[in-house]
Amino acid sequence: MFLIILKSKSPFAKSIITRTCTKPGRWYSTTGNKHYDIIIAGGGMIGTTLACTLGKNPLLQNKRILLLEAGKEKAWALPDKYTNRVVSINPGTHKLLNSINAWKHIENNRFAIVKRLQVWDAVSDASITFGDQTSPEDVSYIVENDLLIAAVNNELKQLDNVKVQYSAKVTDYHLPEYHESSSSVRLDDGNTYSCELLLGCDGVNSQVRKAMKVNYLTWNYDQMGVVATLNLSELTDSLSSLVWSTTPDHAKELLKMTEDQFVDAVNNAIWKNYGRSLVVDQATKTFDTLLRLMNCPSDTVRQFPPKIAKIEEGSRAAFPLGFGHAVNYIGKGVVLVGDAAHRIHPLAGQGVNLGFGDITCLNRVLGNTVHSGSKLDNLSYLKEYETERQRHNIPTMLAVEGLHRLYNSDFTPLVLLRSLGLQATHALSPLKNAIIHQAAT
Ligand SMILES: Cc1cc2nc3c(=O)[nH]c(=O)nc-3n(C[C@H](O)[C@H](O)[C@H](O)COP(=O)(O)OP(=O)(O)OC[C@H]3O[C@@H](n4cnc5c(N)ncnc54)[C@H](O)[C@@H]3O)c2cc1C
Repeated sequence: MFLIILKSKSPFAKSIITRTCTKPGRWYSTTGNKHYDIIIAGGGMIGTTLACTLGKNPLLQNKRILLLEAGKEKAWALPDKYTNRVVSINPGTHKLLNSINAWKHIENNRFAIVKRLQVWDAVSDASITFGDQTSPEDVSYIVENDLLIAAVNNELKQLDNVKVQYSAKVTDYHLPEYHESSSSVRLDDGNTYSCELLLGCDGVNSQVRKAMKVNYLTWNYDQMGVVATLNLSELTDSLSSLVWSTTPDHAKELLKMTEDQFVDAVNNAIWKNYGRSLVVDQATKTFDTLLRLMNCPSDTVRQFPPKIAKIEEGSRAAFPLGFGHAVNYIGKGVVLVGDAAHRIHPLAGQGVNLGFGDITCLNRVLGNTVHSGSKLDNLSYLKEYETERQRHNIPTMLAVEGLHRLYNSDFTPLVLLRSLGLQATHALSPLKNAIIHQAAT
């Protein structure tokens, strides 16, 4: 069983579906340190966008912010070819990027609109479609990760209240004890900085999260996501982005193949005749008739996938896939944001969108905190952030996890369950709208 997500660069889209420092000496003493109001550890998509959003918040104008990124500063220029790391961003993220003026830089370069999303089962006729080619509403937008960061950086550079430091790997974190009021970080060059509030945006293996000593629920899927940029043979807008989740051994094989062999493997996976069950076929037909009798729409016109003609040279890569959720997103003087707090399977293209949702919420909460005259690390305000985001993130993560488990099996009762589920979801507009709403915010 495999799962493919084709993140279309065309309207067609398919988804088959510090530890605190215990070293000798109090390096974290705040005397002599450079002090900031906020330090953001990690300048990926989330840390960079958070720095820019907070920096532009009028209520936080007199706050000094430091963004620390371990990687080198990269001079960015639009490459001729699409890069293989792209994300599908939802309308909520689009709104956030618009609000900080970063979207215009993406628009001036390149992105693709997804108008219609189709999910279908390889072993039954069940399918579901979201969005409509003719509708003014977009389902999502496909943007290259590097372009997104470059677009936000364009705006970030213009802010006087945010300092960005590259090649700045944090090696130790000190979070405040009950009698202390600031967090401190030490960099690999020996420099130390302190702050009122530390924001951990340092990704899946977050050291900030480890320093908080929060419980972290995590498992690996024993799967890799193989990505590649594909050239389609039948559409005018002919590029598409592939995420193929498969076993680590198969992923290795896919990376070793020649490019022609890889194209054959993808075409074969899409078009292969998977064994079908008579029971499932009969049940889905009967259910379809029932839905028609009840006047519920069961009129999916299934769009068949195009043939893959070739892949962009050198565009293959593989990434490990896993699940993770921190039981707490906040602690004294510290907050987790993005993948540092939660990690999900990319099958629904929701991972970074959850992080962007965190940013929108934290920006509002910190603005309110300052507006009310409170300190940035006021735990009752930070709790609002944690509660609001967990109320959104946990159901989304459970839904994605459920889909992953359901689609990772060819056990007939499960195939039947998911096929009827797809049909019912397609037919019941309120349910479908609820899914769209949850995925769009
Ligand atoms: C194959 C695949 C496809 C995906 N597709 C989608 C999609 O379509 N839509 C979607 O919403 N999500 C998608 N995701 C998920 C998305 O890529 C992640 O959610 C996102 O990259 C997380 O961003 P982040 O900034 O939180 O973390 P990261 O991207 O991991 O960034 C963390 C940053 O912190 C820095 N850092 C780490 N440690 C330190 C330190 N000690 N000191 C200083 N800096 C440090 C790192 O250098 C890095 O720049 C996909 C994921 C995969 C694997």
